[in-house]
Amino acid sequence: MPRPKGRRMLEKLNKARNVMLSDKLRGNSSRSRSSLDPALEGQRGASRSKLDRLSINTDVPSDLDLQETEQLWTIANTNQLTDLMSDALCPNCFQSSLTIRVIKDENMGFASKLKLCCRSSSCGYTKSKFSSPRIQKSNCSNVAFEINTKMVLYSHEIGKGFTSLQTFSSVLGISGISQRAFKDHDNKITDCEVESGEDMLYRTANAIRQAYAETDDDIREAIERGENPLIDISVSYDGTWQKRGFTSLYGVGVCIDLLTGLVVDFDIRSKYCHACHIQKAESMNATDLVVWKEQHDCCTNHHKSSKSMEQDSAVILWNRSVAKYNFRYVEMLSDGDSSAFKAVLESKPYADKAVTKLDCINHAHKRMGTALRKLAKESHLGGRGVGRLTEKKCDSLQNFLSWCYNRQYSRCVQNEECCLGRIIPLHVYRY
Ligand SMILES: [Zn+2]
Ligand SMILES: [Zn+2]
Repeated sequence: MPRPKGRRMLEKLNKARNVMLSDKLRGNSSRSRSSLDPALEGQRGASRSKLDRLSINTDVPSDLDLQETEQLWTIANTNQLTDLMSDALCPNCFQSSLTIRVIKDENMGFASKLKLCCRSSSCGYTKSKFSSPRIQKSNCSNVAFEINTKMVLYSHEIGKGFTSLQTFSSVLGISGISQRAFKDHDNKITDCEVESGEDMLYRTANAIRQAYAETDDDIREAIERGENPLIDISVSYDGTWQKRGFTSLYGVGVCIDLLTGLVVDFDIRSKYCHACHIQKAESMNATDLVVWKEQHDCCTNHHKSSKSMEQDSAVILWNRSVAKYNFRYVEMLSDGDSSAFKAVLESKPYADKAVTKLDCINHAHKRMGTALRKLAKESHLGGRGVGRLTEKKCDSLQNFLSWCYNRQYSRCVQNEECCLGRIIPLHVYRY
């Protein structure tokens, strides 16, 4: 008798999930990624995509006829460049007397004004050029130089701000970018980064849709008809903070699809807004402050404790999944902390569909070890002499639990008691 379609899909998903979980247990998460998301393999790097959005050409121009081993950009010392020019003839007096200088007063941030001069006093030949082209090779003086945009992008990529670029320029003894120019570039780059991130998420959602279409004929047929079917997916959810100890001002909640290992969505919580901080320090009068606040796009979106960021992000992500992608996150794999799961359940994101919780084998393994060590230390489980619960025995019990979970996965995945029941009779320890 043929098995029902829903059951077949569930079996395929379970199989994919088992492979992924056992891979993760072995510390090998790359296998599932490369084998399940071929649609994303050809995607270009995130920085490159941002440069494209900033209208900075990332391809080597063919007219320069550069070899593969050559590059367009370098950090150069002008004495070295002058040495390089030592045999070149001046186009005016035909003598080998060319030199390259940097005209410091005419620098525009990291774009240096390079001047080719003839040392012969009777000649007077000069030619000058900026060390960087403007964006899209524009000749307009109000278009930014590529190098300045790239340097601000670099500071974004390493998570630093204006000061890091100041340090960089002071180490090399070059003129850096002004704070005002940095802010202008910073705003443009931030907009591009947000756009690029959103674009990447939608491309990821498409890849996930395709992966689920391969496991379910109904989804595949609906996609082939040009529809956007509602898909129930299983996700792993976790929150992370900028620093430990639940005192962080920033936190992020991330949903990862279990079938493909791709990030479906994320939410950033912030308790701090630098613009508000500066405004307060400038002690603006009350009326001006009200006007300013009306126009201000504030970064603060969290006013509760740092710990609650994880559950708040979960509620936001679950409640926007249908509107954003037409996905329902019906299974939540989390690290054992059930506060986020409880918050999601209370918010009832999907009226007619329940969300269920899965436990990560790695975390169950970790929790078991912590509990055993605590028992051994505080309650002297197994006594103090022969037969006591030693560190080695704790490790063994932890490993037995993982083994049991993996062997019994399909039958009793959510039943710790059942697994423990199998371990204890096999490995007798006195309680
Ligand atoms: Zn000359
Ligand atoms: Zn603000």
